[in-house]
Amino acid sequence: METCFHPRLELIAPEELAALQLKRLRASVRRAAASPHYRETFAALGLKPGSIKTLDDVKRLPFTTKADLRAGFPNGFLAVDRRQAVRLHASSGTTGAPTAVYHSQADLRSWTGLCARSLFMIGLRPEDVFQNMVGYGLFTGGLGLHYGAEALGALVIPAGVGNSRRQVALMRQFGSTALHMIPSYALKLQETFRDMGLDPRRHTSLRLAVLGAEPHSELTRRRVEEIYGLKAFNSYGLSELNGPGVAMECPRQEGMHLWEDAFLLEIVNPATLEPVAEGETGEVVLTTLVRQAMPLIRYRTRDLASILPGPCPCGRPHRRLSRIEGRSDDMFIIKGVNVFPMQVEAVLMAEPEVGGNYLIELTREGSEEVMTVRAEVAEQARRMDAGKMAGLRKRLCAALKAEILLTPRVELAAPDSLPSGPGKAQRVDDRRRGGE
Ligand code: AMP
Ligand code: ZN
Repeated sequence: METCFHPRLELIAPEELAALQLKRLRASVRRAAASPHYRETFAALGLKPGSIKTLDDVKRLPFTTKADLRAGFPNGFLAVDRRQAVRLHASSGTTGAPTAVYHSQADLRSWTGLCARSLFMIGLRPEDVFQNMVGYGLFTGGLGLHYGAEALGALVIPAGVGNSRRQVALMRQFGSTALHMIPSYALKLQETFRDMGLDPRRHTSLRLAVLGAEPHSELTRRRVEEIYGLKAFNSYGLSELNGPGVAMECPRQEGMHLWEDAFLLEIVNPATLEPVAEGETGEVVLTTLVRQAMPLIRYRTRDLASILPGPCPCGRPHRRLSRIEGRSDDMFIIKGVNVFPMQVEAVLMAEPEVGGNYLIELTREGSEEVMTVRAEVAEQARRMDAGKMAGLRKRLCAALKAEILLTPRVELAAPDSLPSGPGKAQRVDDRRRGGE
């Protein structure tokens, strides 16, 4: 059994957890009913908050979608007097208009607690120097883990995004031992080390990294671990449900513990909205159990994942989510085939000669749809001869065909030549006008 930041809640007995969840669910539904959105939807369904008697009764509650949040923008979900809200966050708006999320002081305390326990779980301690290399501001990644790391006593460097040389300098000047990064940026940053004539393994004191905010494969994690000589942990969250601190991997690195004392977890079939069979992949649906200013009931995250079977050897009863396999709205359809960018990434990352950055382009030539995978080659493959290059391209085409059941075009690009930024990577460029 491992040491925990908050043993009473992290190692709670399963039956006690269920009782706590029910108590909190009932309170959460009552609180939610004070917001204009839920007052109306509950009334339309004839639903009395007091009628929630068992955890299973959650199924009688309405789902909440991103569209509902947008329709309720900015105050439709506020369940307390505005003066009790002390923080506003907004989603990145990558898939449409932004949504507003309010937090009370109690909300910030509980969010900070969830982040602190997540970071403690991966091994962050007061002697660590935590360089937080994600966006601060409306994006929740920065402030969420910032407060969590401070709460457990680590020294926090609020580095923010970008400015890669400065990031490397900070790591060296202050002996950073832990990083929080978006995985695509973690792969990118190795180029800066190279340009500066430095080796991250030899010229830093790094031992931990938190990777979050965008889907990434197991092979990407291994690459990051290899490049920096550290242990990297998958961290899941979304701004509607606070941000980071919803689920994080424990040292076993087998699935992310979703903090079930704070969120009620369901996995549903996105088409039928019925629960999936145990262990099957579906859409993650979460109900906040402790949030005050803006409770959310059965929020459809659009993230696709499954629950790993059985208990985790670490002793925490909080169930484990698989890697996020994609978003239901990330999937694209080409020539009638459903494809997730993650499937393409998994194939690319299995080839050591392929670098970290890639782009999937969808175009139309006459009546034909064309999928082109453009991938950078790795630095060590920069001078690969034409024969080897053709061999690599052929291998990738065959492996992609086996994975996605159609053969895309594959173009290999020089290292560091495809567009990239410090924020979440855009992996699909769909230029099929009037297409899917
Ligand atoms: P935002 O609300 O802008 O922070 O974006 C949240 C979304 O980022 C989630 O709904 C997921 O789609 C994605 N995301 C966050 N963390 C992860 C992760 N560890 N793995 C995969 N996707 C993630
Ligand atoms: Zn565990």
